[in-house]
Amino acid sequence: MRKTIIVTGGAGFLGSHLCKRLLDEGNEVLCVDNFYTGQKRNIVQLLDNPYFEFIRHDICFPLYLEADEIYNLACPASPIHYQSDPVQTTKVNVNGSTNMLGLAKRIGARILQASTSEVYGDPSVHPQTEDYWGNVNPVGPRSCYDEGKRCAETLFMDYRKQHHLGIKIVRIFNTYGPNMHPHDGRVVSNFIMQALKNEPITVYGEGNQTRSFCYCDDMIDGFIKMMSTPDDITGPINIGNPNEFTIKQLAEEVIDITNSKSVIKYHPLPQDDPKQRCPDITRAKQQLQWQPTVELRQGLIHTIEYFSELMKEDPTL
Ligand code: NAD
Ligand code: UDP
Repeated sequence: MRKTIIVTGGAGFLGSHLCKRLLDEGNEVLCVDNFYTGQKRNIVQLLDNPYFEFIRHDICFPLYLEADEIYNLACPASPIHYQSDPVQTTKVNVNGSTNMLGLAKRIGARILQASTSEVYGDPSVHPQTEDYWGNVNPVGPRSCYDEGKRCAETLFMDYRKQHHLGIKIVRIFNTYGPNMHPHDGRVVSNFIMQALKNEPITVYGEGNQTRSFCYCDDMIDGFIKMMSTPDDITGPINIGNPNEFTIKQLAEEVIDITNSKSVIKYHPLPQDDPKQRCPDITRAKQQLQWQPTVELRQGLIHTIEYFSELMKEDPTL
């Protein structure tokens, strides 16, 4: 049966993949976005589909729609973007999430929250399990995002307890792929753009900090599986690829695949940059029968093809 599904942040990197996937599965999609970090290019191919509707709207303001499900992705994800207007970042997570929860309550829709591995901060438990409470600085440059997302999780859980809402929380670990903004400052897009232009690769710190990179298609599978779980499964559930790499290894891999002349240039490490990050995905395996399938090199090859095409379209990028 065709469902009507709201995707907030639907013009962003992950949101645009999710909208496409939900349409391909025969649903009607209401994509809500204010283009804060999203791009029209990401959804332009969907605009001709009669079951796709775009609504330009800031979720910090109330929204009145009817739907069966809501995926709440609206929030800038790149540290450069979320730190450029930190008050707005907290607002989108607290006021925006409250509005979407209120909407879900009024219409009786299930609602999924795109939470983050950043709720663990600079973790002292490794790999991170869902029952670890995290190590987060409440007054640092990343707090607007980390604490905003933590408060959003609280709101989701309390709407469940108080109003019996069908809620789902996924904690997303670093995800990459086509449709990332070429200048959003995240490590994968930065390194690929720099390598394609034969410019120095900007490694922060000594590049020994680790991240675990998940390809977007795997992530979207995880979202869809989570949304279709029975009511008693609320999460939080980690979704990410448990293969861990240092940032220096990532730089070397990108240089190798692109056959670039770029050299690595070291820059100071940003304040509160987590030293290591890797998901424990036991819960996702057990409760969602989900695990990632795309290896880093394979995913990087697809992503590099996307950015190469983008640069052919616009050589000034
Ligand atoms: P993105 O920045 O590409 O997409 C976010 C989208 O939200 C953009 O289209 C933006 O315009 C929109 N948006 C922002 N504020 C809004 C507002 N007030 N009203 C309406 N729309 C608004 O980021 P992404 O990588 O696609 O991330 C999507 C979600 O997943 C975010 O909530 C992010 O925190 C979460 N997440 C992503 C990652 C990752 O590695 N990609 C990791 C952890 C969590
Ligand atoms: N990073 C880097 N060079 C860049 C961008 C990021 O070395 O040009 C590092 C950053 O310091 C962090 C890691 O790469 O340790 C991942 O950064 P990103 O901004 O992608 O996301 P984060 O996981 O920190 O939220």
